Amino acid sequence: MTVEQTTPPRPQRPSWDDYFMQIAFTVAERSTCDRAHVGAVLVRDRRILATGYNGAPSGLPHCDEVGHLMIDNHCVRTLHAEQNAIIQAALHGVGTQDATAYVTHQPCLTCAKMLINAGIRRVVYAGNYPDENSRLFLSQAGIVLDHLPRIRSADSVYQPD
Ligand SMILES: [Zn+2]
Ligand SMILES: [Zn+2]
Repeated sequence: MTVEQTTPPRPQRPSWDDYFMQIAFTVAERSTCDRAHVGAVLVRDRRILATGYNGAPSGLPHCDEVGHLMIDNHCVRTLHAEQNAIIQAALHGVGTQDATAYVTHQPCLTCAKMLINAGIRRVVYAGNYPDENSRLFLSQAGIVLDHLPRIRSADSVYQPD
């Protein structure tokens, strides 16, 4: 009797970076401000610590219910995705030291500063955002900034390159 061991063809699996970025895009679908649908996922040791998307504070009316709150051409009703992810971690007592942040859009300067002080070590983003200061701050803080472009668009402001 011959025993034959056959190995089934291995399906194409996404890399860890692709996997977590894909999740960030899924999180972004919960956004309630259609000026940008942004999702953020904080990860350490291949485990998700927290997620966030941009929207109004809990219990307050959302942009898609009452409209945007515009100041200087920015909607100020929402907390940004990265901010909500950091706050969610704080609320549940989850440390963010040395974590990686996967974000559908390059962080703005305020979020960059918060990511720095949250102990984030690496930021992986998909869509570009024209904010040179945020790139500068992140690099000055020694944070690795990796661009992982996605064809899929999160919203009208999303630019893959
Ligand atoms: Zn809005
Ligand atoms: Zn931001």
